[in-house]
Amino acid sequence: MSELRELYQELVLDHGKHPRNFHGMEDADRQSVGYNPLCGDKLTLYLKLEGDTVKDVSFQGAGCAISTASASLLTETLKGRTRAEVDQVIREFIHMLTEGSPDDDVEHLGKLVVFQGVREFPVRVKCATLAWRTLEAALHGQDEPVTTE
Ligand code: ZN
Repeated sequence: MSELRELYQELVLDHGKHPRNFHGMEDADRQSVGYNPLCGDKLTLYLKLEGDTVKDVSFQGAGCAISTASASLLTETLKGRTRAEVDQVIREFIHMLTEGSPDDDVEHLGKLVVFQGVREFPVRVKCATLAWRTLEAALHGQDEPVTTE
């Protein structure tokens, strides 16, 4: 467990400081805005679809290290996956953080499992899930901004 915690700190530091796929996307097919008023995290998520596949995903915005790292890892994890796979990863990730999941229910999450410790800190759960709820909205063509409150 402490190993997982160390890995979590490493990933959040790294991706929080140097987020991947951190840019706008002029030819995005979908985009959604997410806002977490509790912490002040705000991000825009861009999505490019090709048929049933997420061809590209990127984000922009300003937020705490956890929200930024979570969004960065999201983009890394989901590029090239099908919509059905993406939906499943979103479900598993949010479920892990809000309900808690047994180990065999997080098989699609890869290194994202390091976020499971965040569950102990309800305020932080909103930071960690913001990008995921925003992606869900983008994927399903919801135009309303997403807010965690
Ligand atoms: Zn935050």
